[in-house]
Amino acid sequence: MKRKARGTFQPDPAFLALQPAVSGNSVNGVGEPAERRPTPIFWHRPERETHGAMQEHVVARFNSVTAFRDAYAKGDRGPRRPDPIAGERVTRAAAEWTAIVKSFALAHDADLVGIARMDPSWVYEGYELDLPWVVVLGVAMDHTRLADQPSTADNVTAQVEIAEQYNRGARAAMDLANFIRGQGHAADPHQGPWAGALSMMPAAMACGFGELGKHGSLINRTYGSSFRLAAVTTALPLVPDQPDEFGADDFCTRCQVCIDACPPDAISPVKQLVRGVEKWYVDFDRCIPYFNETYGCGICIAVCPWSTPGRAPTLAERWTARKARGNRRDA
Ligand code: SF4
Ligand code: SF4
Repeated sequence: MKRKARGTFQPDPAFLALQPAVSGNSVNGVGEPAERRPTPIFWHRPERETHGAMQEHVVARFNSVTAFRDAYAKGDRGPRRPDPIAGERVTRAAAEWTAIVKSFALAHDADLVGIARMDPSWVYEGYELDLPWVVVLGVAMDHTRLADQPSTADNVTAQVEIAEQYNRGARAAMDLANFIRGQGHAADPHQGPWAGALSMMPAAMACGFGELGKHGSLINRTYGSSFRLAAVTTALPLVPDQPDEFGADDFCTRCQVCIDACPPDAISPVKQLVRGVEKWYVDFDRCIPYFNETYGCGICIAVCPWSTPGRAPTLAERWTARKARGNRRDA
């Protein structure tokens, strides 16, 4: 299907009728000066969400396409439940566990792995998480398949690719959680695309996966925005990674490729105040009708220059140097 030009998309009135009285942007905390935990809005259980009715429509519409439904229903997501925690606890130093966990994850489906100390602000309202560490896992997408957008009922290639990578992330998280449980330590998997207690994106930023882009997704120095997340929370003693800032945020201030490519014109050209933090923000109310129409739009992450295979490392090198020059001038 040909992409509509920016701002020309007309939402389906029947879908808009499912919109609650409250704007999704208010639920997300746009304009709020105080920091707070995120509120469930989509991909949680519908009864927990303000936009549950819209979500149920989206899920029914997507599942009406056999290839989409089968990608999750018949895909390999690993065991459904974690193993019991072994009675005998293996003890090692945090640095040793860190090396073991990272090497295990990279040998079991993950392409990226990073560690952060749990921050309560990453836990959705209405949920609790009491394990002190988060191991975030990233799985790269096939960019050619991801870029086959927008999808129609006859062609959901991009969505099948996204589903297959979510399934790979689910396996990676379950395998790692079970490995840690086998060592006698608590560990819980967090698997997409459904959301749970953990908001994975801030954890991924904290553990060095990259910077938030104007399109509202992460930009990584290797994969751009062409990857998906999964995670494991654990009590295993670990060593945290650091955030990785290589100039993607600066790049976004000078780029508007995703803005121009977004048919409902949902991407803000300037940062917004969201729950006490100035950051790039995508208008939820504008994005979600097009997301519904196209079986899960991902145009913005596909067109992002950082996502073009092989380009992110070169851009990261160039923009890191540029950032360093700017810092020296400012010193
Ligand atoms: S397309 Fe450009 S502006 Fe949008 S996220 Fe990517 S780099 Fe940033
Ligand atoms: S996912 Fe949303 S923000 Fe991104 S291009 Fe599609 S409609 Fe626009």
